[in-house]
Amino acid sequence: MTQVAPAPTTQPDLPAYTPLHRPRLIAPGPVEVDPRVLLELAQPQMHHRAQAGIEKLMEARAKLTALLGDPYDAVITTSSGTGAFEGALVSTTPVGAKVVNAQAGKFSERWGEMAARLGYDTHRVARPWGALLDADEIAGACRDAHTLTITHSETSTGALHDLEAITRAAKAANPDLIVIADCITSYGVAELRPAAWGVDVIVSGSQKGTATPPGLGFVLFSPEVQARMIRDTPRGFYLDLTRELAGQKAGNTPQTPAINLMYALSAALDRLLGVPLEVLWAEQRRKTDALIAAGTALGAPAWATRTSPAVAVLTPPPGLTGRAVAGALAGMGQRALPGQAPHEDSVFRVSTMGYSDRYDALGIAGILEDAFASLGVPFTRGVAVAAAWAALA
Ligand SMILES: *Cc1c(COP(=O)(O)O)cnc(C)c1O
Repeated sequence: MTQVAPAPTTQPDLPAYTPLHRPRLIAPGPVEVDPRVLLELAQPQMHHRAQAGIEKLMEARAKLTALLGDPYDAVITTSSGTGAFEGALVSTTPVGAKVVNAQAGKFSERWGEMAARLGYDTHRVARPWGALLDADEIAGACRDAHTLTITHSETSTGALHDLEAITRAAKAANPDLIVIADCITSYGVAELRPAAWGVDVIVSGSQKGTATPPGLGFVLFSPEVQARMIRDTPRGFYLDLTRELAGQKAGNTPQTPAINLMYALSAALDRLLGVPLEVLWAEQRRKTDALIAAGTALGAPAWATRTSPAVAVLTPPPGLTGRAVAGALAGMGQRALPGQAPHEDSVFRVSTMGYSDRYDALGIAGILEDAFASLGVPFTRGVAVAAAWAALA
């Protein structure tokens, strides 16, 4: 009797990345965007001076204020977050004034460079990357300063600096101080209570917490700081936000804004405002804690001690580099990021900001397992997913 050959017992293998996989943005900006938000961009060209365009500007500004939770007035700039920050600085801080720049990472360093280039009397209060800023040290430097620039969520290190304690200490030392906070990855992401904490100006950008395509910056001014804003600043024309704020309050932008993006922004804000701010913040915290737990289970713990809910900045185990991990993820179609120079190899960065939920965090934990396995890291299958799940529970 002839024997039939047994059927193969293994299924054909699926290579690491094929058209069957779904590419994901798991970097801390730009982030995934809700298809309903993208559809807002697929309309006949709108006009910013038409009644509908004016109403869309006012609607988006009102929602930006709602996302802050305090009665600050929003200016939307057609720029990235850096342009918005520059506008905030030149529109509140007179030529030659003393600016204290608190820095402990890439983005906070940028604001020091900016202030120095703009000719301000710039005093840097620096801590090493990954470390936390010190409230007393900053307060001491602010005694005779005009403005403090500070970054709340330092996306390069994953640290969430204690903006409340620092602002309270700095304002106690100098009640006239203007505090400009880079909240580019904390606005809509982390607990932020600027009125109670004394933060005068909040800066952000569209491609981070608000899950909108890149191209818009946001500056939210407290009622008190508006009376102190500079008219006709000699340090900016396009970025004269005193003029821009007056215009936008009346439904009018002095220049042509990225009106299409404002439609997208307004739709994206509906999703975030669909739950109370406390719920939004807590869920984002849990998602990032899940990524940190997953990384820790794989031997890649968080770099910072007080971690930002915007991004997991993880230190790879010995023998692996941040670029190797980010490269393995990129090979799987998953866009994470290594560290920022000079720390490209010290860390890799993964984020669930944007159009992403807790099940994406679980999926990313599984993706990290596959990436680490491909890099030859020994671990027990399932540990990262289990750790992520525990953090979400
Ligand atoms: C992304 C980012 C910036 C820079 O924003 P752009 O929109 O790229 O100009 C500044 N600060 C922080 C904390 C960021 O995450």
